[in-house]
Amino acid sequence: SIPLGFFGGIGGASSNGILIKGGNYLEALNEIEIAVFDKTGTLTEGVFDVSFVKLKDNLNKDDILDYIALAESYSNHPIATSILKYYGKDIDKSLVDNFEEIPGYGVKASIKGSEVVVGNENLMKLNNISYDSVNSIGTIVHVSIDRKYCGFIIISDKIKHDSKKAIEELKKLGVKKTVMLTGDNKYVAQSIGKDLGLDLVYSSLLPHEKVEKLENLYNDYPKGKILFVGDGINDAPVLARADVGVSMGSLGSDAAIEASDVVIMTDNPLKVATAIKIAKFTRKIVW
Ligand code: ADP
Ligand code: MG
Repeated sequence: SIPLGFFGGIGGASSNGILIKGGNYLEALNEIEIAVFDKTGTLTEGVFDVSFVKLKDNLNKDDILDYIALAESYSNHPIATSILKYYGKDIDKSLVDNFEEIPGYGVKASIKGSEVVVGNENLMKLNNISYDSVNSIGTIVHVSIDRKYCGFIIISDKIKHDSKKAIEELKKLGVKKTVMLTGDNKYVAQSIGKDLGLDLVYSSLLPHEKVEKLENLYNDYPKGKILFVGDGINDAPVLARADVGVSMGSLGSDAAIEASDVVIMTDNPLKVATAIKIAKFTRKIVW
């Protein structure tokens, strides 16, 4: 049902807070068969609560948290923002040297002369640091200082209020497969996949592996068009590869907005369904 005052076309989309970068994308939106989502900030809020801190017995929690917060202070990843909020104290960024963000893994920096590594299991493996494996629903952030493993914190995010409805709407609009690609662990990914009724869920992916998964989907479904929705943090390559790349929310970087074909101003995933509805309505009045 089309509400009164519903306008089609690129203009109608823009009055709904949806920027479509050209008529060809409006047409492609009519033919979407696969809708692929990034997780953090797209299907989930991207606001993590720290639920658990487990450090080696001999370590002082406040000291280690100082190191973690400093290491995250130059990152704009939602995990970094959330950890800094939990930390709550002022940060003297001048203590941080050689900051390195490793997309899909975490961060690394030199702090007061010590090498601090903060991120997921893959980052620990990459640095040959043996870590505790944690089988729990939650995003696990491991920390090591000067190559010594210090422990981990568990943080958790919430599914957005409208994510489930968005998936249901997309299915009603003819989308055949709903998919989530995430760099987070399988426990988090599977739990979200189940809650939202997603058809396929892939976890522990690096940014380039997200593109590989998209390529696999193109091979498996050669006829249907693929839409990808992300927030642009660690997913710009997939945004660029999809038939229709949609970036969402205010977190998106300029590079993400550049790489995407459709920009949704708010962070509501239901707008993805709205974009398809507008495309279908537009086709109806044009033909
Ligand atoms: P998603 O695919 O869920 O949007 P990302 O690709 O942005 O997630 O990140 C994947 C994983 O990399 C995160 O779940 C986390 O384990 C790790 N990670 C990324 N950035 C950071 C960071 N700044 N601090 C700690 N861990 C990080
Ligand atoms: Mg992401």
